[in-house]
Amino acid sequence: MTKNILIIPGDGIGQEVTVWGKAVLEQIGSIFNHQFSFSEGLMGHAAIEATGTPLPDETLEKARRSDAILFGAIGHAKYDNNPHLTVRPEQGLLQIRKELGLYANLRPIVLFDELLHASSLKPEVLKGTDILFFRELTGDVYFGEKYRSNDRNTASDLMIYHRYEIERIARKAYSAARTRRKRLCSVDKANVLESSRLWREVVQEISKEYPDVQTEHMFVDNAAMQLVKDPRRFDVILTANLFGDILTDEASQIAGSMGMLASASIGEGPGFFEPIHGSAHDIAGTDKANPLASILSAALLLDISLGLQEEGRLVMEAVRSVLKDGFRTIDIADPQTPADKIIGSGQMGRQVISRLQQLVIVT
Ligand code: NAD
Repeated sequence: MTKNILIIPGDGIGQEVTVWGKAVLEQIGSIFNHQFSFSEGLMGHAAIEATGTPLPDETLEKARRSDAILFGAIGHAKYDNNPHLTVRPEQGLLQIRKELGLYANLRPIVLFDELLHASSLKPEVLKGTDILFFRELTGDVYFGEKYRSNDRNTASDLMIYHRYEIERIARKAYSAARTRRKRLCSVDKANVLESSRLWREVVQEISKEYPDVQTEHMFVDNAAMQLVKDPRRFDVILTANLFGDILTDEASQIAGSMGMLASASIGEGPGFFEPIHGSAHDIAGTDKANPLASILSAALLLDISLGLQEEGRLVMEAVRSVLKDGFRTIDIADPQTPADKIIGSGQMGRQVISRLQQLVIVT
């Protein structure tokens, strides 16, 4: 059966890295004889320039009809320096997430042994870290009522959660934990916040459906500390929107570079897969962007949206093999390791593609 995959490269290095995420999907299609049909859509600054809007209807329609979406990044310096511009690239991203009903953001924090030095944390603390975050995306202070007093001196943001929002993401997180090391840590602030007390209550109820998964509840301040003190203690971390926003960025430093981290957003419809980094104007057009986050996003797409776990694993193995042989884009190179072979985006992408073929022949 044909699987429809929409590619949205976006802006800046988004365009440069998504080429390689797509090339990996094409290669997997050809190796395993899967029928993948690709289409392309505009979003962000590129879309504003071409159509006047950051998310053209045509892109949204294609997204709705697709089985999965591989996205690059959006953004342009002109908006960063001018907050008064009312039509902005990020509106496209927020709108597509909302229109597709994406309620859970998954962010795997996997550290390749070959990159232990790239993190600012000690290798002996990090070695073996493998965490999967589930961050809720539709509730919390981002969407609660906002208030500013008439004299402008008092403000509030309502932290709000509904039971169904917690139930649906908790089930996704428990199901994932079942396929991993069977441990789930739910992070909240139930000692202080009523919305966290509801969160904990609901997670405790859902945990009964998954007796084989060991559940732990942790306050967010402690979780922030444990992540850098002993990241290996975590398997699946389930948390709300605001806490997840902060903790996932903290955890991204474990992997050393933004260029190594992929993410998936899922809901009722097609999944949306993207590197965690932005459009990086500072290196756009210089062939310095690390394409591995986009390639790892493609691996997640295969695994989560298309149910092709073996294919997803093969992509991970190809990345590991390239790193093992010392190939590095500049962001993950270690000045103390002269054996590192520093290569550009294009060479890195081509290395991964050729490994895919070689690994299949070997196995
Ligand atoms: P950024 O993620 O684009 O870059 C941060 C730093 O990391 C830069 O020094 C960049 O060179 C480096 N970097 C990022 N990705 C890299 C890669 N693949 N390989 C090597 N180095 C990499 O964040 P920023 O500089 O704060 O924002 C730049 C633009 O991106 C802004 O317009 C911002 O609005 C936008 N942005 C978009 C998204 C998104 O599309 N999801 C996310 C964050 C920022």
